[in-house]
Amino acid sequence: MTTFHVHSIPDGVADEVRTTMRAPGYGHPAYREKAALGTGPCRQCLRTFAVGAEPRILFTYQPFTEDGSLPAPGPIFIHASGCERYEGATLPPDLRSLPLVFEAYANGGRLLAQDRVSEGASDDQLRAVLERTGADYVHIRHGEAGCFIARVSC
Ligand SMILES: [Zn+2]
Repeated sequence: MTTFHVHSIPDGVADEVRTTMRAPGYGHPAYREKAALGTGPCRQCLRTFAVGAEPRILFTYQPFTEDGSLPAPGPIFIHASGCERYEGATLPPDLRSLPLVFEAYANGGRLLAQDRVSEGASDDQLRAVLERTGADYVHIRHGEAGCFIARVSC
């Protein structure tokens, strides 16, 4: 059975944003607000925000790290105060209630498949994408907003 690993953004990126209030690598100002509409999760702990309660920071992030891949910067949120990074061999619980897209890539950033998954995404669905495409990694994106959520390696 194919195993996989879900990676949220590196702690160093989140720490830098909280300290400088600027987007790492870009320098654009980051924006702090109380969580409002939108279901995108914190990209560090991969938990959804308590709307109207939790402060969060919006900033520009570039999720591709491989040589040769085309950068794809986009807006993401993290909790404004520190939280614990998610790392695990299963989809985090809060992502299962969101519409998702599993984007399968080969090394070098070549897109192999883009599977829309309605709410209720499962580890089996993710495993099936990896097995069908032979992907080197997968990006999980929000199925409505389109923004990057997490990276999956196998
Ligand atoms: Zn968080």
